[in-house]
Amino acid sequence: MVRVQCPCCDYFTFDSIEDALFEICEVCFWQYDEVAHDRPKVNIGANHISLDHARENYKKYGACEERFKAMVRMPLNEELPINNLK
Ligand SMILES: [Zn+2]
Repeated sequence: MVRVQCPCCDYFTFDSIEDALFEICEVCFWQYDEVAHDRPKVNIGANHISLDHARENYKKYGACEERFKAMVRMPLNEELPINNLK
């Protein structure tokens, strides 16, 4: 099975695309949303900020928004890009 990569934190946090569509990323708290992924500069869809902004926040705070800092966790081994090369 191919894991799905979170577009915000870049870890492979979703077990499958079905999982991604209904779950929030546990590492950065981004809600997987293909509408937003196609338009990363626009605040659109399920998240309340743009994907580009969320990625900046993840680098700064370790979460897609500062208010989610306490709710995220470290990535698991199986979620690291090095373990999910295509
Ligand atoms: Zn994520």
